[in-house]
Amino acid sequence: MFLRKLHDLKNSLLFRLTILYAVAFTVLAAIGFLIFYYRIYAVTMERLDFELLEKTGRFTALMKDAGLEGVRPAIADEAASEDPQEDFYRLSNFKGDVLFSTDMSFWGSIDQQSQLQKMQNDGVTDLIQTIKFAERDDKARTVTSIIGPDSVLQIGESLEEVDEYLDIFLQLFSILIVSLILASTIIGWLLARRATIDMQEVTETAEEISKGAYDRRVQIKARYREIERLGATFNRMLDRIQSLLNSMKEINDNIAHDLRSPLARIRGIAEMSLLKEKSVDAYKEMAVNTIEECDSLIGMINTMLDITEAEAGVNGVETEKFELVELLREACELFRPIAEAKKIHLQTDLPESLTVTSDRKKMQRIVTNILENAIKYTPADGAVTVSAAAQNGELRIEFADTGTGISANDLPHIFERFYRCDRSRSQGGVGLGLSLVKAYTESINGTVHVESALDQGSRFALVFES
Ligand code: ADP
Repeated sequence: MFLRKLHDLKNSLLFRLTILYAVAFTVLAAIGFLIFYYRIYAVTMERLDFELLEKTGRFTALMKDAGLEGVRPAIADEAASEDPQEDFYRLSNFKGDVLFSTDMSFWGSIDQQSQLQKMQNDGVTDLIQTIKFAERDDKARTVTSIIGPDSVLQIGESLEEVDEYLDIFLQLFSILIVSLILASTIIGWLLARRATIDMQEVTETAEEISKGAYDRRVQIKARYREIERLGATFNRMLDRIQSLLNSMKEINDNIAHDLRSPLARIRGIAEMSLLKEKSVDAYKEMAVNTIEECDSLIGMINTMLDITEAEAGVNGVETEKFELVELLREACELFRPIAEAKKIHLQTDLPESLTVTSDRKKMQRIVTNILENAIKYTPADGAVTVSAAAQNGELRIEFADTGTGISANDLPHIFERFYRCDRSRSQGGVGLGLSLVKAYTESINGTVHVESALDQGSRFALVFES
């Protein structure tokens, strides 16, 4: 149980982000401090070296002016002002005979000959070194300078003070780094929690949905753009799923209500034929009726499938470049005989040419469905006008008729599957035409608009971005 929790924690984003923040923060702070520490160390040593060289430089100048006899007491004076445990002064000749020295019992011996050898090899008159003396724990910074023709002056200064000073820094750094690790872990945890809290909300919503709460949506608080986008995309996906579920439910209802009656009719025809003795002609008629009913059933089922596919976005859109004016004229010619038979004046108001890139087959079905309705619901001596224009980046196709019109009560429902206005029931049709028009138009990125006034006529408009 505990191990499982530990494993979960190790794999959680919150935990990993927190550790990442803490490590990054601490490493950066440590690098910053190390640079700072070595800079301070370098400056301190530079200052020390400068002081030591400045002293030997002074004695070199004095040696030139006053000779050994003048330098020796000057060195003794200088040495007297210092603590022999902290600083030493040692004047000798090249052979190593000591001409003056402070108490070296605090320090131990110095290998002067090898230092002189090194200076000779390097061709320098001053040699600065950090030396660890046998007699003491601390190190010392020493300068060995040739201050005269046969005189070597060695000055040493204990680094104890410098070490103490740098030790304080190290202690400070240790305290600082521990506090930084703590602070960065807390800050990291807070930041990571803020980032993941929204993700948790998405997860919780997904969990609730998986239990059946399909109407739940992620609250978009816009704290982080990425998570906001994730939430918005998730909500869009949910909307889509819900609309598909609704349309599936609608189809189920449709099958229950609207497909049942034609099937009942077919059954009725067959039953009637069985009950009574009939002539061959009567049986033939029954067969014809059955075929007609079946055809209309197949047509309905196919249209329903087409609508569902277009709404679900399956089968895609096949775009091609084509002449829209030609397509509209062809559709008008197709319906002209019916219009003429009904004494309806079918007219067009079209430009010379309108080339569009869209799904030609879908456009054909949209246009024929609207045109068919316009002629169907317009009484004799009426008029139907088809017009199209591209303006302000918008392509608009309009179908205006002087027909029965649609009441304000019916208008919001006419695009629903199987919806038929009461006044149209005398006309043939199943109420799927406008549902198909809407689904197809939206699948090719267009919108359908309708204006209508009862007994005056209707105007259907298709609008596309051009
Ligand atoms: P159908 O025409 O098969 O009944 P539709 O889906 O094409 O089904 O149309 C739905 C309803 O909208 C029709 O029953 C009709 O009442 C109304 N309608 C559609 N177009 C027109 C129109 N141009 N004029 C008047 N009513 C219309």
